[in-house]
Amino acid sequence: MTGEQFEEAALSTAKGIEEYFASLPSRNTLPSVAPGYLRKLLPESAPNQGEAWTEIEKDIERAIMPGITHWQSPKYAAFFPASTTYPSMLGEFWSAALSSPAFNWICSPVITELETVVMDWFANILALPETFLSKTEGGGVLQLSASDTIVTVMVAARERYIRRQLEREGVTDPEEIEDRSCEIRSKLVALGSEQSHSSTKKAAIIAGTRCRTIPTHQSDDYALTGPALRAKIEELHAKGLQPYYLTVTLGTTNTCAIDAFDSLAAVAKDYPDIWIHCDAAYAGSALILPEYQHFSAQMAFVDSFNMNMHKWLMVNFDASLLYVQKRRDLTDTLSITPAYLRNQFSDSGLVTDYRDWQIPLGRRFRSLKVWFVIRTFGVQGLRAQIRHSIALGDFFADLVRSRSDLFTIVAPPRFALTVFTVNPRRKEPEKLEDNTGNGTDPRPYQDSQVSVKPAADSKEVEEANEVTKAVYETIDQEKEFFLTSTVLS
Ligand code: PLP
Repeated sequence: MTGEQFEEAALSTAKGIEEYFASLPSRNTLPSVAPGYLRKLLPESAPNQGEAWTEIEKDIERAIMPGITHWQSPKYAAFFPASTTYPSMLGEFWSAALSSPAFNWICSPVITELETVVMDWFANILALPETFLSKTEGGGVLQLSASDTIVTVMVAARERYIRRQLEREGVTDPEEIEDRSCEIRSKLVALGSEQSHSSTKKAAIIAGTRCRTIPTHQSDDYALTGPALRAKIEELHAKGLQPYYLTVTLGTTNTCAIDAFDSLAAVAKDYPDIWIHCDAAYAGSALILPEYQHFSAQMAFVDSFNMNMHKWLMVNFDASLLYVQKRRDLTDTLSITPAYLRNQFSDSGLVTDYRDWQIPLGRRFRSLKVWFVIRTFGVQGLRAQIRHSIALGDFFADLVRSRSDLFTIVAPPRFALTVFTVNPRRKEPEKLEDNTGNGTDPRPYQDSQVSVKPAADSKEVEEANEVTKAVYETIDQEKEFFLTSTVLS
């Protein structure tokens, strides 16, 4: 493809994307293809000769679109939002053009420097404590996903815990350090609540430590509390095990629960070697609103914090923001510098090398799209978007509440998420034989007669689906977008 052909293809692609967005409301949100559909549409083997873009492009509609779930559709209401916007796409475009795996500052200074600037901007937009800014001992880094950030900090937490323990024991001999490290590691336990995202468990598998969950209760709106944390720590200590890491969550996946940060902070003070990470993957976006920033102030007690702009904040996947209060906590574990990675700038200590803040070596130019989005919408535009979305969530929650005969809301609606169950249908009381002789059924209609049938064949679920459809249609009519809802049944 020549530069001239590229220009033509790029214009045609931009036009195609714009037409796609315009067509979204009329497309079915879900694909209706059967597994393996694509192989039937594509040739058996790769083309020997290159093809013209005009030919390749036709396959977007023919082969790709049938298998797409339209997450950007106004009718899409599953999982979580995964927004994209034009400036974000343009950021990806330029990032792809500049393709430069900037592991060290020297690889492309701007890739590091823009990331630091944008991460500091965003820490301020989120009103995180100053200790998360790069002008202090902290800072932020852009990673692929929340799961990546969690495994990264968990490994750093494990090594920090071991380092501190070895320092206290005064172990200095390298072989003894290795042996003791393995012994300590075998006792370590990562913690999360029952409601923490599964990424905490997965990270513990990768970190090679135990993982235990702490119960939560509906009466606490599924929040992890300080007393529950203390009880679990004491239980583990009694067994000779060492908790070294805890995930707390702002906006859990199931119900958008908010852990009881103040009460957890009070307990955390007694266990300074436990690394506390706040996972705000989804709900963290709401912290750009001043009315939610009391949660940001509460983050002073956590060692690290992540939120995904790629969920709710107009940046396309991937853009997971990780902040730490002490960047040394990451670099002390993740920095390995063979001769081929050394350079005068890294040696000077005056630059940041983000390879030391993450697991892979190479990295994408992610900050470009974040920068484009912030500049295009401005802080006010971003706030307006999240406020609008929360207002829609409230609107939806009211619609669900208005049909309490069909639905039960099981946790307080929050951050545009409403979690509800479909009510079991009341069974008509069996007709008793009329012994009274006056034709009335003597038996009152009692709650004990409520029956729960399997959802798959129950008529009540059909009815509930009718109402849900009506709810979506109402929203659709109002041309409202970005709604998140979950049905548990
Ligand atoms: N944490 C929470 C609270 C989530 O809701 C999710 C995804 O839904 C994740 C982590 C995982 O996010 P990612 O796909 O960025 O790893």
